[in-house]
Amino acid sequence: EFLWRNPDPKKSYDAVIVGGGGHGLATAYFLAKNHGMTNIAILEKGWLAGGNMARNTTIIRSNYLWDESAAIYEHSLKLWEILPEELEYDFLFSQRGVMNLAHTLGDVRESMRRVGANQLNGVDAEWLDPKQVKELCPILNINDNIRYPVMGAT
Ligand SMILES: Cc1cc2nc3c(=O)[nH]c(=O)nc-3n(C[C@H](O)[C@H](O)[C@H](O)COP(=O)(O)OP(=O)(O)OC[C@H]3O[C@@H](n4cnc5c(N)ncnc54)[C@H](O)[C@@H]3O)c2cc1C
Repeated sequence: EFLWRNPDPKKSYDAVIVGGGGHGLATAYFLAKNHGMTNIAILEKGWLAGGNMARNTTIIRSNYLWDESAAIYEHSLKLWEILPEELEYDFLFSQRGVMNLAHTLGDVRESMRRVGANQLNGVDAEWLDPKQVKELCPILNINDNIRYPVMGAT
């Protein structure tokens, strides 16, 4: 049983979570699933998942630079991979990869650094040169006489 809005003030709860966004809902879900808690109150001032969750770009990715972030995002991505089956609900999670284009030498350096850091952390990542970018996404213009030439991509 998950409650949101107006939880009974006289009732005691195993856990009270403030905010019914992704973090709050996931916390409630995993407290129930992994720790057997069944009376959890979620206090939400608006509507469920109506905060940042409702306006994000919906890219579910694991390509973060720092060791601490890499581990938590990689773990999170693996949770997403089993969630549709676990919840028996197809929420159109579809893994296609994400390509981040580099347009300046600074971009290239930062992107290659990120790919290297990801690979060292066992995260699937690779650096593509412009020709490889074109092969993967033929619609891209990789001419070097355009305003923001494609110098490669992660
Ligand atoms: C434009 C944009 C694009 C993004 N793109 C991506 C993306 O592509 N991929 C990605 O992984 N992340 C993306 N993010 C980040 C991601 O959306 C957030 O990290 C995530 O939604 C945070 O979840 P949350 O549960 O912490 O916060 P929220 O989803 O904001 O949930 C917080 C909830 O708490 C409630 N609340 C706040 N204060 C109180 C209170 N005092 N009492 C009761 N309820 C309260 C709010 O109403 C809200 O529902 C993006 C974010 C934005 C804004």
